Amino acid sequence: MQASATCHMCGQTDTVTVWKKDWDKYIGGDLLQNVWGYFDPDEREILRGARAGHYFCPPCYDKIHEVEEEEGSDYRWSEEDAADARLAENKEEGRPLWQP
Ligand SMILES: [Zn+2]
Repeated sequence: MQASATCHMCGQTDTVTVWKKDWDKYIGGDLLQNVWGYFDPDEREILRGARAGHYFCPPCYDKIHEVEEEEGSDYRWSEEDAADARLAENKEEGRPLWQP
């Protein structure tokens, strides 16, 4: 079967093909990442959106999260995380690239 979700921001419709039995598992209450752990996050987002009826395509999702930083996501790598990681790396070497 195909699951599709339409972006609330730009109106683009994204579709992903899944087994009906997997979809039934998800509708039955299984976690997205348990049913489709091998899918990439963008594909899982389409499935989540198809079920919830509320979806933003990846470019719009990224735009929204540039302004809404407090809404944490467990699998997307934000600019802020990247900066923290750079800082952590540099701390290990004992010489930070930049100071706050
Ligand atoms: Zn969009």
